[in-house]
Amino acid sequence: MVPVRQLPAISDTLEQQQRGWACVWCRTWLPVGLSTDLGQQRVTPETGASYLWFPRECLDTTACAEREVDQ
Ligand SMILES: [Zn+2]
Repeated sequence: MVPVRQLPAISDTLEQQQRGWACVWCRTWLPVGLSTDLGQQRVTPETGASYLWFPRECLDTTACAEREVDQ
Protein backbone atom coordinates (compact mmCIF):
# COMPACT_ATOMS: atom_id res chain seq x y z
CA MET A 1 0.00 0.00 0.00
CA VAL A 2 1.29 3.46 -0.88
CA PRO A 3 1.02 6.04 1.89
CA VAL A 4 -1.44 8.82 1.09
CA ARG A 5 0.61 11.33 3.00
CA GLN A 6 4.30 12.01 3.02
CA LEU A 7 5.63 10.07 5.98
CA PRO A 8 7.53 11.96 8.66
CA ALA A 9 11.29 11.80 8.62
CA ILE A 10 12.39 8.73 10.50
CA SER A 11 14.53 10.93 12.73
CA ASP A 12 11.26 12.51 13.95
CA THR A 13 9.69 9.20 14.92
CA LEU A 14 9.94 7.05 18.01
CA GLU A 15 11.17 3.48 17.98
CA GLN A 16 7.59 2.36 18.65
CA GLN A 17 6.48 4.15 15.50
CA GLN A 18 9.29 2.69 13.44
CA ARG A 19 8.26 -0.80 14.56
CA GLY A 20 4.59 -0.26 13.81
CA TRP A 21 3.50 -0.45 17.46
CA ALA A 22 2.35 3.16 17.58
CA CYS A 23 0.66 5.34 15.00
CA VAL A 24 3.14 7.18 12.80
CA TRP A 25 1.02 10.35 12.99
CA CYS A 26 -0.46 10.62 16.49
CA ARG A 27 1.82 8.22 18.41
CA THR A 28 -1.15 6.35 19.89
CA TRP A 29 -0.46 2.71 20.67
CA LEU A 30 -2.17 0.60 18.06
CA PRO A 31 -4.33 -2.36 19.04
CA VAL A 32 -3.15 -5.56 17.38
CA GLY A 33 -4.89 -5.99 14.05
CA LEU A 34 -6.60 -2.60 14.23
CA SER A 35 -4.31 -0.41 12.21
CA THR A 36 -3.44 0.27 8.61
CA ASP A 37 -0.12 -1.00 7.31
CA LEU A 38 1.58 1.75 5.31
CA GLY A 39 4.08 -0.65 3.86
CA GLN A 40 7.71 -1.18 4.65
CA GLN A 41 9.89 1.84 4.02
CA ARG A 42 13.55 1.69 3.11
CA VAL A 43 15.79 4.37 4.55
CA THR A 44 19.24 5.04 3.21
CA PRO A 45 21.21 7.21 5.63
CA GLU A 46 24.04 9.35 4.38
CA THR A 47 26.34 7.11 6.36
CA GLY A 48 25.77 3.48 7.16
CA ALA A 49 23.67 0.75 5.69
CA SER A 50 20.11 1.13 4.53
CA TYR A 51 17.39 -0.37 6.69
CA LEU A 52 13.66 -0.86 6.79
CA TRP A 53 10.96 0.53 9.03
CA PHE A 54 7.30 -0.35 9.24
CA PRO A 55 4.95 2.61 9.70
CA ARG A 56 1.31 1.99 10.60
CA GLU A 57 -1.57 4.38 11.17
CA CYS A 58 -4.88 4.35 13.01
CA LEU A 59 -7.92 2.90 11.26
CA ASP A 60 -9.88 5.97 12.31
CA THR A 61 -8.01 8.64 10.41
CA THR A 62 -10.35 11.43 11.55
CA ALA A 63 -9.73 10.77 15.24
CA CYS A 64 -6.07 10.27 14.44
CA ALA A 65 -5.79 13.70 12.83
CA GLU A 66 -7.44 15.30 15.86
CA ARG A 67 -4.98 13.60 18.20
CA GLU A 68 -2.10 14.70 15.99
CA VAL A 69 -3.20 18.33 16.25
CA ASP A 70 -3.39 18.07 20.04
CA GLN A 71 0.26 17.18 20.37
ZN1 LIG B 1 -3.03 7.85 14.67
